[in-house]
Amino acid sequence: MKWEANVRKVTPYVPGEQPKCTQMIKLNTNECPYPPSPGVAEAIAGISTEELRLYPDPEVGELRQALAEYYGVTKEQVFVGVGSDDVLATAFLTFFHSDRPLLFPDITYSFYEVWAELFGIPYERVPLKEDFHICAGDYKRENGGIIFPNPNAPTGMEESRELIEDIVGSNRDVVVIVDEAYVDFGADSVLSLTEKYDNLLVVQTFSKSRAMAGMRIGFAIGHPKLISYLNDVKFSFNSYTMNRTAIAAGVAALKDETYFRNTLERIIETRERTKAELKKLGFLFPDSKSNFIFATHPRLSAKSLYQACRERNIYLRYFDKPGIRDYLRISIGKEEEMHIFLDFLKHYIEQERG
Ligand SMILES: *Cc1c(COP(=O)(O)O)cnc(C)c1O
Repeated sequence: MKWEANVRKVTPYVPGEQPKCTQMIKLNTNECPYPPSPGVAEAIAGISTEELRLYPDPEVGELRQALAEYYGVTKEQVFVGVGSDDVLATAFLTFFHSDRPLLFPDITYSFYEVWAELFGIPYERVPLKEDFHICAGDYKRENGGIIFPNPNAPTGMEESRELIEDIVGSNRDVVVIVDEAYVDFGADSVLSLTEKYDNLLVVQTFSKSRAMAGMRIGFAIGHPKLISYLNDVKFSFNSYTMNRTAIAAGVAALKDETYFRNTLERIIETRERTKAELKKLGFLFPDSKSNFIFATHPRLSAKSLYQACRERNIYLRYFDKPGIRDYLRISIGKEEEMHIFLDFLKHYIEQERG
């Protein structure tokens, strides 16, 4: 068609499957297997349709204030968005406006490359070391910005605070974003470094550890100047990103610290038990500090295993990409779900041997 010459053509990010069936073990998109705190349900029920007539607060003051109190910063250091994908996309558009390349690991959250392409940001994918760790030295060269997750996805591996501070401190003339989507599952956050470095933006989400992927809440913490630039871009694009229900649910989630800690503890315990069982079955994996395990098996094809699981309604994530096509990313589900999955693996391996 003639108008196609004027279309912005992009290769979109492909999210993990959301199958419609009810009887399944869903270990493919790193969702929390337990619901959010009961206070969240109450908050959602408390939203009247009368309230929905009105636009939400464009400043999202209540949620930003709740986050500021929770993390011991000021509201002016907090930005919120519709999931961290929205926060990250806004940050790409705001901070990576340079002719020099944005740097991120070659094995990482694949959305980074999609946003760079969408916004026309020059970028380079920096190879990880053979053990999947980041090499700080690779990020000490001319660049237009840096982003990486910690723990990294899909490896689940944590980088040390020293390494991150080294990268942030060596790049004071660009913005460095640390995507802490999985940090609550046992890794060390670099949030406190935002007090020392005005070029560091830390991004987190309610989707994984706070069990609210369906509500779409993400946030960033950094120097007030960074946040103010983010708001300028946000208000140039869509003033009302956060709806009233999401704001109320987010505030309620932050109030129930006991529930949050208990849920995290359960997931971490299941993760550690799953690691031990996978090891017994001959799987190899980097030590995960997230709610998933990135595993490979010396004698099994990851793709075949992925398909065999799928036929049993066990959904895993498989990336048919160089460097990681022998791996499966396995989200940590409920204890019982992991039992069923591990039992299936045992039978599968016996069958393959026989
Ligand atoms: C899940 C994830 C996100 C995005 O999560 P939202 O649901 O949009 O908050 C961002 N970064 C990484 C590394 C993720 O795994």
